[in-house]
Amino acid sequence: MSTYDYDIGIIGGGAAGLTVAAGAAQFGAKTLLIEKSPRLGGDCLHCGCVPSKTLIRTAGVWALARRAREFGLPGLELPDVDLGAAMDRVAAVIAKIQEHDSPERFCALGAEVRFGPPRFVDDHTVEHDGKRFSARAWVVATGSRPALPPVEGLDTVPYWTNETVFSQRILPGRLLVLGGGPIGLELAQSFQRLGSRVTVVEFLDQILGPEDADLAEVVKGRLEAEGMQILTGTKALRAGRRGAAITLTVAPAKGGEPRELEADALLVATGRRPNVEGLGLEAAGVSYGPKGIPTDARMRTSQGHIFAAGDINGVLPFTHVAGYEGGIVLTNAVLRLPRKADYTKVPWCTYTDPEVASVGLNEKRAQKEGIPYRVLEERFAQNDRALAEGEPLGKIKVLISPKGAIIGCQIAGAHAGELIHEWIAAVNGGVKLSKLAGAIHVYPTLAEISKRAAGRYFSEKLFSDRTRGLLHLLFGLKGRACTPAAPAPKP
Ligand SMILES: Cc1cc2nc3c(=O)[nH]c(=O)nc-3n(C[C@H](O)[C@H](O)[C@H](O)COP(=O)(O)OP(=O)(O)OC[C@H]3O[C@@H](n4cnc5c(N)ncnc54)[C@H](O)[C@@H]3O)c2cc1C
Repeated sequence: MSTYDYDIGIIGGGAAGLTVAAGAAQFGAKTLLIEKSPRLGGDCLHCGCVPSKTLIRTAGVWALARRAREFGLPGLELPDVDLGAAMDRVAAVIAKIQEHDSPERFCALGAEVRFGPPRFVDDHTVEHDGKRFSARAWVVATGSRPALPPVEGLDTVPYWTNETVFSQRILPGRLLVLGGGPIGLELAQSFQRLGSRVTVVEFLDQILGPEDADLAEVVKGRLEAEGMQILTGTKALRAGRRGAAITLTVAPAKGGEPRELEADALLVATGRRPNVEGLGLEAAGVSYGPKGIPTDARMRTSQGHIFAAGDINGVLPFTHVAGYEGGIVLTNAVLRLPRKADYTKVPWCTYTDPEVASVGLNEKRAQKEGIPYRVLEERFAQNDRALAEGEPLGKIKVLISPKGAIIGCQIAGAHAGELIHEWIAAVNGGVKLSKLAGAIHVYPTLAEISKRAAGRYFSEKLFSDRTRGLLHLLFGLKGRACTPAAPAPKP
């Protein structure tokens, strides 16, 4: 029996913290969860995944309405969008999901929830609201917040981040988005589709930096076709005001003449910073740095009984990773089994239209790690359902080892975030390409693209001159019944 007040204490009630709290309480551990803000749910629910995906859907409906003629329908004269009404829908979806993340639900599971900022006073004790609470193990799951770029004058102009964008009510005529990563692009496309004229400024030579360039190009092509201006390889130098407008001086990242952009609103989406401040981590003896609180594979910090999970450890900033790491903490801290995190099969998706989803290695990562691979590629334009849906854009890339084992898959195309799950199962289950290629898929579905991609590996071998020759020898097959006419010579 420990002499501490609680078996486990958790700081931060977002994706990681809530996973640990719910699990620990259900295992019968006396659990305390302390959340600084007045509500549970964290960034994902309040200013991340949920509001962004909700707004993406609203903007997607509008974009589809604009395409009515493409589907053989009368063209529509669309009125201006009331951003306030769109954001009301966002708030309603958040409120619905919030019911699931209520303190009452956690109390029913057996976890005590407290609101307000806590602070470590030693490595087992936290002070909160004038009282001290000790626990045998602690988990820091305080997440991250927007990182601001070093742009001169940024503090003198009004700008939005993911923390404020979802409370806007007036659609800006012109929107500047700093950052061409997933957060910036998802929001940029939403605003473009709702009616803003959007310009994205990205320092790197491509948008969606970690993705293969050819897949990023698929997305860029669609965004530009929808009217967005995307400036890659461009550095923001200075922000300022001209009347009610915001100005941004930019220059080529590799050097060159600066120029000025002007807009009615500015969204900053240039990365994340860990929430390490004010926690008293020094008093607890927990090491941390600018990237957050480093942990070992068992999610232990420099103090073996204090764990860090979610965005705070700076590994992979996704809700499903926070949940996974929360599970690793549970196994180590509550069940006391030495389970380690393995990030090699972490999937993710950027919810632009088209979506970009990934699991395992892509070409960039394989090349960086010196891992030999081959790519099997299949285009949405060859998928019957994609054509019926009017979504022929994009492709699937399957990376295989020289022996034909699946080592990764990337998809840029409609519903990529759903399609990737066949490959997540395959990679995790060690499924062979032959199983995927041989499995009957439903016709007509986008998912058939996966079967076709897997089948490519075999069709090249199966329908070869060698096989034809062998069958001719064995069964006397007679060969071609028709040969296309040779193209007429050019005059
Ligand atoms: C716009 C946007 C879109 C996103 N979309 C996706 C997506 O589609 N899919 C995806 O997987 N991920 C997405 N993410 C990332 C995802 O939101 C995060 O990875 C996830 O929320 C991390 O969970 P967490 O538990 O580490 O942090 P959070 O969920 O942010 O929880 C941290 C909690 O700690 C609290 N806290 C902070 N400081 C203290 C303190 N000192 N004391 C006590 N409590 C504290 C915070 O108030 C918060 O409730 C998105 C992020 C953004 C910004």
